Amino acid sequence: MKYIILIGDGMSDYPLKSLDNKTPLEIAYKPNIDKLTKEGKTGLVSNVPEGFSPGSDVANMSIFGYDPKKYYTGRGPLEAGSMGIDLKDGDVAFRANLITEENGVLLDFNAGHISSEEAAILIEDLNTYFKNNFNKNNFNKDVLNKSKFNGKFYNGISYRHLFVINNKELSDLNTAPPHDIVGEKIADYINWNDESSKIIKDIMEMSKDFLKNHPINKERVEKGKKPANMVWLWGQGLKPSLPNFKKLYGLKGSVITGVDLLKGIGIFAGLDIIEVPGATGYFDTDYNAKGKYASKAIKYNDILFIHVEAPDEAGHSGEVKEKIKAIEKIDKHVLGQILDELEKYSDYKIAILPDHPTPIDVRTHTMDPVPLTIYSSNNDTDEVKTYNELSVKKGSIDLSEGYKLIDYLISN
Ligand SMILES: [Zn+2]
Repeated sequence: MKYIILIGDGMSDYPLKSLDNKTPLEIAYKPNIDKLTKEGKTGLVSNVPEGFSPGSDVANMSIFGYDPKKYYTGRGPLEAGSMGIDLKDGDVAFRANLITEENGVLLDFNAGHISSEEAAILIEDLNTYFKNNFNKNNFNKDVLNKSKFNGKFYNGISYRHLFVINNKELSDLNTAPPHDIVGEKIADYINWNDESSKIIKDIMEMSKDFLKNHPINKERVEKGKKPANMVWLWGQGLKPSLPNFKKLYGLKGSVITGVDLLKGIGIFAGLDIIEVPGATGYFDTDYNAKGKYASKAIKYNDILFIHVEAPDEAGHSGEVKEKIKAIEKIDKHVLGQILDELEKYSDYKIAILPDHPTPIDVRTHTMDPVPLTIYSSNNDTDEVKTYNELSVKKGSIDLSEGYKLIDYLISN
């Protein structure tokens, strides 16, 4: 038996006025998905448990068969996994954004989409600066006398970096995602008072002192660009301990994605990551290459997770045409090639779903359950004929907890 899990990130939506009260999934021409739906089974599934925010990290952890309530420790450590950072006992990994602050207000969570080249220099210089100055200048001498500064920044892409520090207590700190507090007063979100938390506050404040005078920022300001004049630490956690996917489900699997977060989940689950040239995680991703690599990988795997980020990006930027186009390209270039290859096999199942909705009108993720379609070569079917948010409500699959999907596929 071969299993394919096709994830169209943020693909589901709400009815849109500009589409005559239809959703992008209803409008998109997607003959392959609809054919599988007609011959398969459908339903709604919730990938985000109550009390969690609907991030791609939590939602995809569910799709990969891991209950977030049990295994989710934060976004930082998942990204650390994908960057090959080996987290030791007590290491807490924070996401470190390069941001723009102005007069104590968070102006831009991505520092004007700073280039990776500029960011690499800033991150390296931040490490040198903190190594040489933190113990000298810090505002929390008592804490540092007990334990020396052991934090380190890791360079990522554009504004997205990581910071790792060995201090277990920091994993519970209440940090804020910077994209949620643009325009707000920074002091309101870093007002931690206990001794160990103050380290994080100090690092964020000291980063400001150092970055404001950095030549790269002076040059950016001269060119009318936003400076990366502060580091914002958030999304932290300890290394998650996911049981090995193969041991758990008895299937050898691989992941195809252009996004670090998904690679991280795959790595911690012991799945193989298939790198696809041209998989960018944006609209311009090479759908054809993804389809080609996926169909080649079927032979060597029992299960394949194929993730396409583009519909989510279209949702965040409110571009309805791009979202429809992304769905159509997933159908034609990714799913189309996979189906051609699967003709060689007699037993297979395909599940198609988004991780969470990213509605065009909302421009961020929502908690709503998502449409799921499952095609099985054993011809198990229900009455639903097309795949969209509304139609699948009449489907036969009842799966309120997304992390049970893999079990469901294996046993039904
Ligand atoms: Zn997502």
